Amino acid sequence: MKILLTGGAGYIGSHTCVELLDQGYEVVIADNFDNSSKKVLDRIKKITGKNVILYEIDVKDKMDVDKLFDEQKIEAVIHFAGFKAVGESCAFPVKYYRNNVDTTLTLLESMKEHNVNNFVFSSSATVYGIPESVPLQEWMKPGCINPYGRTKYVNELILKDAADADENLSVVLLRYFNPIGAHKSGLIGESPSGIPNNLMPYITQVAVGKLEQLGIFGDDYETRDGTGVRDYIHVVDLAKGHLKAIEYALSHKGCELFNLGTGTGYSVLDIVKAFEKANDIKIPYTIKPRRAGDIAEFYADPKKANKELNWHTENTLEDMCRDSWNWQKKNPNGYE
Ligand code: NAD
Ligand code: UDP
Repeated sequence: MKILLTGGAGYIGSHTCVELLDQGYEVVIADNFDNSSKKVLDRIKKITGKNVILYEIDVKDKMDVDKLFDEQKIEAVIHFAGFKAVGESCAFPVKYYRNNVDTTLTLLESMKEHNVNNFVFSSSATVYGIPESVPLQEWMKPGCINPYGRTKYVNELILKDAADADENLSVVLLRYFNPIGAHKSGLIGESPSGIPNNLMPYITQVAVGKLEQLGIFGDDYETRDGTGVRDYIHVVDLAKGHLKAIEYALSHKGCELFNLGTGTGYSVLDIVKAFEKANDIKIPYTIKPRRAGDIAEFYADPKKANKELNWHTENTLEDMCRDSWNWQKKNPNGYE
């Protein structure tokens, strides 16, 4: 069975690609390498011994996407392609809406014309906004607080409307919590450009000596140690969730939404301590003011995905810390 991964050269897409190939699926990647490297494809081959079919295209481009569906018999699409930096989305909202919404519209149009009926979408837990309570459950009211989050919510609305109007279409919306970690081989991982915004790549860059010390954004939140709490999930567990989502899409019609998280919240200090213990490396840090827009505590209730997708996370926080470091130390400059 052939699956199209848009944005398949990116962080989550490349890990999902490996899991799909390992399970015997054929994979077609459509990526314009706006935020990824072509080296990923060799690394995927090294891990799996298998080739993927690459279309170096912009997924907004209807003619190129039509050509792909003309040439390849695709059974399901996992749509990862998009921009994901919250700060940049505040500075350039139109750029974000254009890329994150147009790619979906193009895919939906072309899929309908080519009778491709299974769509899995990379949404984000950021759609929940500031939670009234945790853990977050799928029925809770969305409250996006930045343009990036709103592009994800707009996508969810479009996809729900499309599924409501087309009895053949099956859509699975996945709200990811905080993916970290890397494939155990250390051959693929997250390769942010510039200074990382996210916690784990910042920590690994301190560990490798590229950054001097971690700044912890606030220690006066109403959490057990005052630092922000998040639901960190190993990217390989997240990738495996996509295989379950495809199985679900193939056997159900309509549109369904699932959280992909572990259900456990860890604080920034928990992560620092776990990283130090797992890898026997000291991470110097200093306490800084709160980062604008940050939320105190944010973690998933993953029961719906556990039950309906039959998906469970397997990796511990120690695994996440070890694998993040393994990737970083083997690739101090990412894919560069
Ligand atoms: P990533 O930037 O590593 O991967 C995205 C890929 O899409 C890149 O390879 C990029 O080159 C490609 N791309 C972007 N626009 C494109 C276009 N118009 N045409 C073709 N290719 C295009 O990001 P990621 O971390 O792998 O995230 C994948 C998806 O998951 C994104 O939609 C992101 O918003 C969503 N998501 C990510 C996180 C996270 O923390 N990483 C959390 C929640 C949701
Ligand atoms: N964080 C931090 N220092 C950093 C990056 C992040 O203290 O350099 C904190 C941040 O305030 C939050 C947690 O780490 O409490 C996770 O942040 P990240 O940006 O990785 O994820 P998000 O906030 O988008 O969930």
